Amino acid sequence: MQKASRHSYHREVMEAMGRKSKKAGNYKRIHRMSIEHPEQFWRRASENLHWFKEFERVLDDSNPPFYRWFVGGKTNLCYNAVDRHALGAKRGQAAVIWESPETGQSKILTYFQLYREVNRLAGVLKNLGIEVGDRVIIYMPMVAEALVAMLACTRIGAIHSVVFAGFSVDSLAERIDDAKPKLLIIAEAGKRKGRVVDLKGIVDKALSTARFAVERVIVLNRGLGEFSINEDRDLLWDKALEELGQDYVEPVPLDSAHPSYILYTSGTTGKPKGVVRDTGGYMVALHSSMEQIYDVGEGDVYWSTSDIGWVVGHSYIVYGPLLKGVPTIVFEGTPDYPDPGIWWRVVEKYGVTVMFSAPTALRILRKYPPDWISNRDLSSLRYLFLAGEPLDEPTWKWATDALGTCIIDHYWQTESGWPMLSNMPGIELLPIKPGSPTKPVVGYHLEVVNDDGKRIDPGQKGYLVCRPPLPPGNLLTLWGDDQRYLESYWGQFPDKLLYTTGDFAIEDREGYFWVLGRADEVINVAGHRLGTREVEEVLSSHQAVAEVVAVGVKDELKGQAIVAFAVLKEGKEASEAVRGELVILVRDKIGAVAAPREVHFVRMLPKTRSGKVMRRVIKAVAEGMDIGDISTIEDGASVEEIAKAIESFKAELSGGTREIG
Ligand code: AMP
Repeated sequence: MQKASRHSYHREVMEAMGRKSKKAGNYKRIHRMSIEHPEQFWRRASENLHWFKEFERVLDDSNPPFYRWFVGGKTNLCYNAVDRHALGAKRGQAAVIWESPETGQSKILTYFQLYREVNRLAGVLKNLGIEVGDRVIIYMPMVAEALVAMLACTRIGAIHSVVFAGFSVDSLAERIDDAKPKLLIIAEAGKRKGRVVDLKGIVDKALSTARFAVERVIVLNRGLGEFSINEDRDLLWDKALEELGQDYVEPVPLDSAHPSYILYTSGTTGKPKGVVRDTGGYMVALHSSMEQIYDVGEGDVYWSTSDIGWVVGHSYIVYGPLLKGVPTIVFEGTPDYPDPGIWWRVVEKYGVTVMFSAPTALRILRKYPPDWISNRDLSSLRYLFLAGEPLDEPTWKWATDALGTCIIDHYWQTESGWPMLSNMPGIELLPIKPGSPTKPVVGYHLEVVNDDGKRIDPGQKGYLVCRPPLPPGNLLTLWGDDQRYLESYWGQFPDKLLYTTGDFAIEDREGYFWVLGRADEVINVAGHRLGTREVEEVLSSHQAVAEVVAVGVKDELKGQAIVAFAVLKEGKEASEAVRGELVILVRDKIGAVAAPREVHFVRMLPKTRSGKVMRRVIKAVAEGMDIGDISTIEDGASVEEIAKAIESFKAELSGGTREIG
């Protein structure tokens, strides 16, 4: 492939593929219109979807910041994602393509087959007494049945809460206690890199730990291993469908603001936040994003490599592609198992046209010889979108060269439900600046502001905020906690109603945004959001630990990794055994994604004279950066403690021995 200058590169790729980028000036015009006339803009976007009852107002902003979209309208996400296609021209076309290198299996469900499966399970749910507004927790690996379960819930107005199947007993129990589901839908096991994960065992433990009593559990038996059945509570999936399934279950016309799901994410405190999504606004935003951002239309095959446990999975494995009526690939596996060529064989096999992944995955693949990619025919692939963490320029450049396709960085969050900053090739592909997720997506009035909430000059670092109203699809509130919603997202600037993303950013002179990382105590490991407090709470529950701090430091592969510094209680000995116990504790209580890369023992932590732990200083020392102003520190020796611990760790890595504590 020919090398070209950064700015013209993607155009060449596009033109080589016979796709012209859309008309110049479109982005500016359409974005401006979406901000100046949001009601007109979103009314138009709602037109190609089915409403059982037309909405009376596009936007109700009478109770800010609780904005409601398509007020008075009644619709159904499942009807729009499944029935509309299954009962029309797309009946025999692929809807879900399941590909599982973990089990060596694959399967395709057409829109009509998906419709049949969803109806049958919806019948089971109804017969079990699940009603509009009841919660159902889904704890499943990447299998087609997980999508069936989500869609069956939204069909009858039950609120699903998918919990990532890599989360541990305690994380699941915590979510059960918060969401109070009547029913759990699970699989007996998952597989990761060939190893069987006993999900049923985790669920049984979580149900005995949780305070809330769940009535029923539907268990999909994949034949991956033995599991025990609690006759009074558990129902096998196949048997349930046979005995309680129905051929047709009426999709319930739901208020546009009816919660479709709760999805938990990390915040700055230990307790996860239950992001609540509506029905109508989310549906319209996703449908429009498929066209305007992802440039998806007839003939496209969409693949998001994420997991249904994350927001990307909800929006772009399940609802987005199905609302648009294109096939979605459901992949059970990792980028390098059984070998690093697996993704590209899938692209070739199904002719994937638009792909969505995270930078970490590319950084993993980059370590391997290029022929894993160059041996495959990837000519179908028009775009690879990336999100979840910053996309560094070397990775962007490598991916652009290696894949010969257009690599688009875009930025969003669990709360937004769909992209906030992105290049939008569906309306106009703007020149790419590697490292920048480009400009605000239509509907978002984003700004970079100072501590007073005032917009700052281009080139200056500040807080990334959104002026109200948040466009459709964004969170309604936090489950059962309106106050926390107000405080977490709308309370940063006195006298100014601005939505806080929690990120620092810079806007440059050409209106491109550069996201600089979190402004709060949230970190991002391999695209997964974690609160440092969550990790600290677990570490400090160890009987030997007196005090602990966990910070996110730069990591070559994962973007960031967790490094913890612990002060042990009087009389407790620092040892490799304690270190190991601490790592295992986090794995058990939260999950492997949160396991610290390093645990160091120190005698004291750097604190201000008012007793606040100086995370900024600890992070700077851990990353070998300038520690800046430490005039408020209580005891300067604490910084040396941190530095010493890190030096001894490095010495150990390079062959020396480590000094413990
Ligand atoms: P999550 O809610 O888990 O998807 O995490 C959202 C957070 O990930 C954002 O607030 C950012 O800190 C980070 N993030 C997501 N996409 C990007 C991106 N393209 N560039 C930089 N940071 C990103």
